[in-house]
Amino acid sequence: MEKQEKKLITKEFNTRLYEKPAVNFEVDRFDSAILKHGYNVHHHRALKCPCTNKGTGSALPDCENCRGLGWFYINKTKTKALMQNLGNNPKYDSWTEKNSGTTTITTLFDDDVSYMDKFEIIDLEANYTQILDIRYVEDKDLLFSFTVYQPLKVYDIFAFVDSRSPLMKLSSKEENESDWDYELQNNKIVFNSDKWYDIYESGNMSVSVRYKHTPVYCVIDIQREVFKARDQSDCSDIPCDVGKNDLHLRGMPQKSIGRRLHYIWDANNSDGPSVFDNSTY
Ligand SMILES: [Zn+2]
Repeated sequence: MEKQEKKLITKEFNTRLYEKPAVNFEVDRFDSAILKHGYNVHHHRALKCPCTNKGTGSALPDCENCRGLGWFYINKTKTKALMQNLGNNPKYDSWTEKNSGTTTITTLFDDDVSYMDKFEIIDLEANYTQILDIRYVEDKDLLFSFTVYQPLKVYDIFAFVDSRSPLMKLSSKEENESDWDYELQNNKIVFNSDKWYDIYESGNMSVSVRYKHTPVYCVIDIQREVFKARDQSDCSDIPCDVGKNDLHLRGMPQKSIGRRLHYIWDANNSDGPSVFDNSTY
């Protein structure tokens, strides 16, 4: 049957009202505040990983696209973002662990932020400590652990011996080329398998690390996702068919809520030894 198309009724407005003074946004001022006061950030765009099982909705634990997390990241761009309330949500009724590590992120309309996107603040440094979840990949003879954040520098790294002995401080390949314990490779800590494999195999390898990294926030909510305002600014330098004295519809900044990455997921999910970069630029 042919689809019935009903007639559209267009309402007529009193044109006299267009002449009255009215307030309007100046979008350039909002954008300029972000560019002047914002941090330099890397924006990583999130996509759901197609490795996900259709029945259970869970990701494959050995998927090297998403590290078993179910999300992968592409097309990293460098931009600016306002990050406010870094740290805690300052409400008296919510001084709890669950609110720490949240921030509001204000970004330019063109940055096109979506749910689960990551923002890495390259102007800041933070410390993080974690107990490593160590894996062994046999065909590559690779004894390693992912870290939640990509370390800039490892400060302290200790292995557990037993409850009645002091911890053992590990030495990096840089410090001790002939008798090294670990080496930093992007977001992985790789162990000297000649020295550590037997201990790993016996199930007694437990390592704790403290490192410096650039803080990363993951978008968990978007408070203002799509907002366009009518604005009178001159747009002679961008393609526009609106008359000079009329208002233009322009995109306003987006406002999202970000959470420190280690509250969203930890590094212990993956069985695979690497992560592919699926960026398409
Ligand atoms: Zn995957």
